Amino acid sequence: MKVAICGAGISGLALAHRMHAHGWDVVVLERAPGPRTQGYMIDFFGPGFDAADAMGLVPALHERAHPIDEAAYVDTRGRTTAQLTFARFAATEDGRLLSLLRSDLEAVLREHLPAAVQVRFGVAVTDVRDGPGGVDVGLADGTRVDADLLVGADGIHSTVRRLVFGEEHRYSRYLGLHTAAFQFDDPVVEAATRHKVCLTDTPQRQMGIYGLGGGRVATFTVHRTPDPAMPADARAAVQEEYRGLGWLVPRALAACPPSSEVFYDQVAQIEMPRWSSGRVTLVGDACAAVSLLAGQGASLGIGGAYVLAEELAAAPTIEAGLERYEQAWRPIATERQEVGRRVARWFLPASRRDVLLRRAVLRLGNLPWLDRVIVKAIAGNRVPVVAQPAAR
Ligand SMILES: Cc1cc2nc3c(=O)[nH]c(=O)nc-3n(C[C@H](O)[C@H](O)[C@H](O)COP(=O)(O)OP(=O)(O)OC[C@H]3O[C@@H](n4cnc5c(N)ncnc54)[C@H](O)[C@@H]3O)c2cc1C
Repeated sequence: MKVAICGAGISGLALAHRMHAHGWDVVVLERAPGPRTQGYMIDFFGPGFDAADAMGLVPALHERAHPIDEAAYVDTRGRTTAQLTFARFAATEDGRLLSLLRSDLEAVLREHLPAAVQVRFGVAVTDVRDGPGGVDVGLADGTRVDADLLVGADGIHSTVRRLVFGEEHRYSRYLGLHTAAFQFDDPVVEAATRHKVCLTDTPQRQMGIYGLGGGRVATFTVHRTPDPAMPADARAAVQEEYRGLGWLVPRALAACPPSSEVFYDQVAQIEMPRWSSGRVTLVGDACAAVSLLAGQGASLGIGGAYVLAEELAAAPTIEAGLERYEQAWRPIATERQEVGRRVARWFLPASRRDVLLRRAVLRLGNLPWLDRVIVKAIAGNRVPVVAQPAAR
């Protein structure tokens, strides 16, 4: 049996691992000309961590992880207004939490793929013909790939979803925010933020800064806007939107690279009534994006890929496996989407009053029992996802 996976992001690469482990021929088709090196920091925990552990990847992930001691909120003059200690967050996850650059998580998944898995860069999927016995996939270079199954792991703006299930606006729930991320070199900003994430304690718009070591800095930004339309020039938009935040933000904005190196997107969730049609299915952000508000999209991408591969292996037919995958994984993705929407006000307060409220709650979080309540509100319920398919 052969599977074509559209997208060599976190979900597609994790799926490639597991499908190969279950004896499938695997080809991964990636539009980008090569691996991504830019990107933002992610907190990696939950079902994806469990799945990565089952794949034997956790030691390699530890090697790439950045030691983060705390999340510190800072005012316009750089004074800490509230803190969340990472050790406490990690303790509620039994220590199974790593801070990683998204590109490093992808690199570990890619570097541990068996040689038999083909990863083809610079090939965009542009056409899908689904038949009773398999799928015929058209690529931008005019060539075609046949497979028994096509999986769209091509992210929140999925082409496979558009081609097979219809236009994006039917499934996208805009959450009223835009986000951006970029990296730059500045030893002063890096030294001030090393081993922590510093977040501006501001309403409506926020910048988060991580010192990566060696003078390198990763930032992400998020701001509220009712307009989902993307700006023509991401760099100019970021420099204009965040210039009033004080502290080290003006230095970060001055160091912002050209728009081609800035990640910029709407903050949205994807909600679909079904994830599979014939011999085509979706995984990760393509079918169930939770958004950065839920802070677990990468983890859910790996967890969902793991469950998809296990269910296909356990079921008598591909169609039955796709059905079981959706039954098992949809409730988990739906719960995380609800968590994401619930914490929006906490993640980025809309008013000065809400900033003060968050500050007060975080200070109370120093009480031993309340930190668990806060973390649970952010992270949602624990799910034993890796054991799940095997247990049935
Ligand atoms: C600022 C920010 C912070 C975040 N923080 C966290 C966090 O702390 N923890 C966490 O777990 N998650 C976090 N996330 C979410 C996480 O990054 C995403 O959920 C995750 O990367 C989704 O992975 P994916 O593989 O499903 O999609 P993607 O990463 O979008 O990968 C899709 C791939 O498909 C390729 N592709 C697209 N179209 C085609 C085509 N037509 N043909 C071939 N290839 C194609 C793309 O080039 C890309 O490589 C954050 C997101 C943002 C924006």
